[in-house]
Amino acid sequence: MNRIQESTIYREFSDQNSTSRTHAARASDCIPTGTSRSLLKHAPFPFYVDRAEGIYSTDLDGNRRIDFHNNYTTMIHGHGHQDISEAVRKQLELGTSFSAPGAREYEFVRHLCERIRSVEQVVFNNSGTEAVMVALRIARACTGRNRIGKFEGGYHGSSDFVMVGGHDVPAPDDPVRVSVPTADVAGLPAAATEDVVLIRYNDPQAVREAVERFGGELAAIIVEPILFAGGVIPATPEFLEVLRSETARAGIVLVCDEVVTLRHAVGGAQGFYGLEPDLTTMAKTIGGGFPVGAVGGRREFMRVLGDPDEGGTVANLGTFSANPISVSAGLEAMRLLDEAAIGHINDLGELARAGLRSALEKYGAPAQVTGAGSLFEVHWTLEPLIDARGPTTADADRNLLTFLGMCNRGIQLSMRGIGALSTPMQRSDIDQMTQAFDQTLEEMNEDGIF
Ligand code: PMP
Repeated sequence: MNRIQESTIYREFSDQNSTSRTHAARASDCIPTGTSRSLLKHAPFPFYVDRAEGIYSTDLDGNRRIDFHNNYTTMIHGHGHQDISEAVRKQLELGTSFSAPGAREYEFVRHLCERIRSVEQVVFNNSGTEAVMVALRIARACTGRNRIGKFEGGYHGSSDFVMVGGHDVPAPDDPVRVSVPTADVAGLPAAATEDVVLIRYNDPQAVREAVERFGGELAAIIVEPILFAGGVIPATPEFLEVLRSETARAGIVLVCDEVVTLRHAVGGAQGFYGLEPDLTTMAKTIGGGFPVGAVGGRREFMRVLGDPDEGGTVANLGTFSANPISVSAGLEAMRLLDEAAIGHINDLGELARAGLRSALEKYGAPAQVTGAGSLFEVHWTLEPLIDARGPTTADADRNLLTFLGMCNRGIQLSMRGIGALSTPMQRSDIDQMTQAFDQTLEEMNEDGIF
């Protein structure tokens, strides 16, 4: 037994979740990692959710927690929102999957085009992964080039060419700004690392260097305006300005991955920053809790998805693309996500970050909080958090105990300490979360964890 396993928090978690422990052991026999959602696995075993309603989820042992994870930001209106459920019920009666195009797809696309300035056309598919795959194909087809630029720590789904350079980033003091990435997982083709250029985030000079060295070979550079998996780190306006001007100058397609950040403002984070990308990828919130992905952008790029006699050479396929349930739920969810709703969760985000920071200060804990709008992350490191390098130095044990300690007190963050707020949350829920954080820190401190 090490000091983590002996800690009060770890033991309490194990005691509170005995049914999940039994289920995990059983499930691991026939599902590798015990769940197809392998990212949701953690020590000592994950709790398995039985049901969720509003801001709460309840696990197999009957533990009810406020869901600050929200399926990695997806459930922006919480679980089972009345209007979204009603839209789904109506659609269930009308049919769930058709053998010809459904009519509501157009309505949803119109809505997205009205919201997002740079988006003139949209196609749907079934996940952010697919959206990114198609966006990169569009970029290759439009430019006749092969390589892709991505930023250190950026997660853009699980297709081959973006499963690189996510985890293994240079150390904070490494002067290298542009590099060839390593693979995040085994089983990728060699081209997935060879054809990708890895660029330091929030570093205008790195962007200039990447374009200078590889510009003529780069079909696209893909960027998140707030680096999510890499640390919930907002871009600086200067970084995005340089990225836009350098890519435009070198004929590189700029793909803005708004799978997470669309929540930041009505027009997405790109609207907030005044960024005009060539293509935008979307998913998560735009499905209203159902599987979805979408690529949108300017006509001059989207045209390669058109009919072959109009220059169409790239295909967006998928038996379930634009499936009627995702379209109905997603349209309702996005209509609900108006300026007032976004203002509400962004205000709560400020409150959450301030509450977490003051608890860290109270205990002198060597940790920091990043985030913007309705997102935050706790990092157990004192390295500067301006790109993806600082977050990789975080203490994994303290991270795990923070996650488990919060779970024990009825609050679910992500295992890495990310929180994503939902519109039904109120100030009292944020207070409850910050109190649970305070108590978790107290317990960790008493156990000598920091
Ligand atoms: N892009 C970003 C920025 C993401 O955060 C994610 C998922 N977390 C994806 C793409 C992939 O989306 P999906 O899980 O729907 O494939």
